[in-house]
Amino acid sequence: MKNLILIAPPAAGKGTISSYLVENMGYQHISTGDILRNVAKEDSERGHFVSGLMKEGKFIGDDIILPLFKEELLKIKNQSFILDGFPRTIVQADYLTDLFQEIGIDDYVVIQLEIDSSLLLKRATGRRVCTSCKATYNVYFDGFKPKVENVCDQCGGDLIQREDDTEETFKNRYEVYRSETEPLIAYYEAKGKLKKVNANVTEEEILENVKRCLND
Ligand code: ADP
Repeated sequence: MKNLILIAPPAAGKGTISSYLVENMGYQHISTGDILRNVAKEDSERGHFVSGLMKEGKFIGDDIILPLFKEELLKIKNQSFILDGFPRTIVQADYLTDLFQEIGIDDYVVIQLEIDSSLLLKRATGRRVCTSCKATYNVYFDGFKPKVENVCDQCGGDLIQREDDTEETFKNRYEVYRSETEPLIAYYEAKGKLKKVNANVTEEEILENVKRCLND
């Protein structure tokens, strides 16, 4: 199976697609957002620094994220993996290109999720995440609401809103995406690695299209 890099604006559904591929197709998932949320919980100078930046919707510096990312990738490099949230800048993409070359990875596809920007604010502010199993829900969309308010359908854990899913922080994250991450689309198009998937349709249709890209 091809390795996958997902590029999409915040709250476009990268996590949902990743969970499906992990549960049904045996992929390993590297989410730099999850890695950094764990760092942000540390009661240390680094933890407080990372937590502050994430709350504002700003990127964490490469001095912190690059070694953390490399460590995770090296752990799973012999299995099929999904990169969710990395790379997010051209500098990170160049770093990844070099790292792939160093460890001999060439079989990957980059999927850009195309989504109507007017949907994103509701997806972000309505998102709720299980504190124990990380399943995600959305209080605004039928089919994504938990059966019981604030309780996880899967494990009974508490659902919370991420600190960066407020309207103000979402708007910052979206701006940063447009300026820093969108240039990656042309970068991977030039390498012949890019595929586009329409993410305005049902979850089933999105997953079908993603699977098609992985099998091409
Ligand atoms: P989303 O997919 O909704 O944008 P993530 O959970 O992937 O959210 O990321 C949350 C936050 O973690 C980002 O807003 C940013 O502060 C930080 N982050 C994640 N990945 C990176 C990265 N590759 N480089 C720098 N910061 C990152």
